[in-house]
Amino acid sequence: MDVYDHPTFNMACQQFELVADQLEIPAAERPRLKFPKRSMIVSLPIQSEDGSMRVYTGFRVQHHLTLGPTKGGLRYHPAVSLGEVAALAMWMSWKCALTGLPYGGAKGGIACDPHQLSPRELEHLTRRYTQEMMPFIGPQVDIMAPDMGTNEQIMAWMMDTYSVNIGHSVPSIVTGKPVSLGGSLGRREATGRGVAHLVARAADAIGLDLKQASAVVQGYGNVGAVSAQTLDGFGANIIAVSDVFGGVYNARGLDLAKLNAHVARHRTVKGFAEAEPVTNDQLLLIPCDVLVPAAMERQITGANAGQIQCRILAEGANGPTTPEADAILARRDEILVIPDILCNAGGVVVSYFEWVQDLQSFFWSETEVMERLYRILDEAFDRVWHRARDQKTSLRMAALGVGIQRVREAKTLRGLFP
Ligand code: NAD
Repeated sequence: MDVYDHPTFNMACQQFELVADQLEIPAAERPRLKFPKRSMIVSLPIQSEDGSMRVYTGFRVQHHLTLGPTKGGLRYHPAVSLGEVAALAMWMSWKCALTGLPYGGAKGGIACDPHQLSPRELEHLTRRYTQEMMPFIGPQVDIMAPDMGTNEQIMAWMMDTYSVNIGHSVPSIVTGKPVSLGGSLGRREATGRGVAHLVARAADAIGLDLKQASAVVQGYGNVGAVSAQTLDGFGANIIAVSDVFGGVYNARGLDLAKLNAHVARHRTVKGFAEAEPVTNDQLLLIPCDVLVPAAMERQITGANAGQIQCRILAEGANGPTTPEADAILARRDEILVIPDILCNAGGVVVSYFEWVQDLQSFFWSETEVMERLYRILDEAFDRVWHRARDQKTSLRMAALGVGIQRVREAKTLRGLFP
């Protein structure tokens, strides 16, 4: 389907085809598994602060509805497009299936630069998008969550717009809300803590002592900053971090408390005094034990995969490693890749907990949330680890294999409606 043509969607399809070959899925069955169930593109006119009208484009892709409602984040970024969102929705499907959640995957986004919008413009854009999506979303249809460029406040506006339309409060329409509106304790930290937890599992497996380890994080946002903070708590030395404006590096380790104070003041890590500047390209090549890409897709490519120098590559972002890079990394036995659909699954798992709590109006303690999260992540890690060992394949192929197989089984059991 040409309509989805985009380097990131093509990359997700390439991964799918590799796994489908391994699982011997007949060619005729593949399009049903691969292509989204439905996609929406909406025009979003809002009045700018200067009084002019600006029209933005919003997207939502629901990949499959076979196992329950769809679930996935909402991204505000200038590069958002239908193909990118479709790829992210497909990965969400495999991720939910891998962790045993009763969801299909979805993703949405608005092509905009949130840094250039005032709070009022952001609110109007979010409400307009939610209004346009009303016929396609619902707690049993499609549930949104934060992703790059969106946060708890955006989720609060979405929940309010949906609830006003319905006539009563519907907290279960979004996850990643403020706790005071029915959000879950631990949701904000879930993805980054999950990344660090799985890094610790992987470190154990390869005999790496995290207390002696150094770590580099690309993308010091929600996922990256919490991953860094948690790894720091495990005793690792965070030597470099970055954001869209650039990176900072200190071989002796960054003082995260001071760095966070700098970020709170300047909204970027750039310019942090106790470090030297690095570009995002340089950052990925810094020798370290743990490298956490936690920003955009397609950062580790055929061009730099041969030069990265880490023991564990922990994919906090979705799709940070291209198939060309994967082929190179497969020949580099010294590097263990924790694939995105496993590594960053903590976010959607706690989003699921939030949805369950909202539907039951019964809320859990943070300890309960975290214990349940780590149990699910540990089970997924063990299943992927053993499958990779048994099938002599990478953790990515094993993780995708579990996810795709589950969705395929569900579709086969439900059959084809005439
Ligand atoms: P965020 O907006 O909180 O942070 C993103 C960070 O990446 C920011 O610091 C931004 O400046 C930086 N960045 C953007 N473009 C960059 C570039 N080209 N180079 C370097 N840095 C860049 O977003 P987030 O929620 O932390 O999401 C980060 C990644 O994690 C995305 O790939 C997202 O899909 C994935 N993810 C997020 C969650 C979640 O719960 N938020 C869950 C699973 C996966």
